[in-house]
Amino acid sequence: MTGIAFIGLGNMGGGMAANQAKAGRHVTAFDLSAQAVERAVAAGCHAAGSVAEAVREADVVITMLPAGPHVRSVYGEQILGAAPKSALLLDCSTIDVESARAVATQAKAAGYRFADAPVSGGIMAAEAGTLAFMVGCDAADFPAVEAALEPMSRVTIHAGDHGAGQAAKICNNMLLGISMIGTCEAFALAEKLGLAADRFFEIASKSSGQCWSVSTYCPVPGVGPSTPADRDYEGGFASAMMLKDLKLAQEAAARAGATTPMGAQAEALYALFDANGFGGKDFSAIIELMRGRLDGLRKG
Ligand code: NAD
Repeated sequence: MTGIAFIGLGNMGGGMAANQAKAGRHVTAFDLSAQAVERAVAAGCHAAGSVAEAVREADVVITMLPAGPHVRSVYGEQILGAAPKSALLLDCSTIDVESARAVATQAKAAGYRFADAPVSGGIMAAEAGTLAFMVGCDAADFPAVEAALEPMSRVTIHAGDHGAGQAAKICNNMLLGISMIGTCEAFALAEKLGLAADRFFEIASKSSGQCWSVSTYCPVPGVGPSTPADRDYEGGFASAMMLKDLKLAQEAAARAGATTPMGAQAEALYALFDANGFGGKDFSAIIELMRGRLDGLRKG
């Protein structure tokens, strides 16, 4: 039986680890949050008391952590050396390209195979096992990476060498941040024009305004498929995480000399939303900023 060590069992990692267990793999799980570990155990995983204990006998190590500094420290201080050299190391977090390349170099120097494999799809896809993975790794390692990710994946694409998965992810999420803000503006305007949200949803999802933020992740409660909007904007993709990704995109754009004015505007709007105390809310809650209704939104 394939032994998976799963580190980081939050909004995304919880569902992803559960799907590995559902696929019959032996999943040893660790998170700093005891509650998150308890949820993973209820979903068929085995609890570990530390990262080192979780990875000790792993065939595959999967990390799903908040940001670059967490990934650098967890690999540098707790995984490399503790996991068997034969283990395949997969970081699915969204982090900066430099951190991904630095961890890959360190892992390879220590004799491991490593891939950056960030995901697109959100918590519903994490729970359903239908995430899209974009992978940066040595081409020879890709088949093993694809097989390891299979229980969590709808599609797995080799983006290129180490760091290419993260490059794809920040470009994708810059586009997502921009499209969510555009979607929120359109629904807020429709409301002011007296157009019912469910009517606009039906029309926009079948017209040229169609995008994932409209059709799959509609920011208006009670409209379209179930989304965090139906749960007071709790438990989805936190606005603070979107802000992190937009900052990563702007930093990368500045370094590469790319012009990304819409990405810069999206970063400024999510920074404003975060500064008002709403960083813990799902990123679709930014519709309340467009509606001028922040007072009605519980801070989170
Ligand atoms: P989250 O905050 O819900 O989960 C992160 C988990 O990591 C937490 O449970 C935390 O306790 C744990 N953690 C932090 N440091 C740790 C350590 N040193 N050892 C063990 N556990 C540790 O975040 P999330 O929403 O699950 O996102 C995780 C990653 O996935 C982020 O990089 C995010 O950008 C990315 N992502 C999120 C979504 C989404 O919709 N939420 C979608 C795609 C990608």
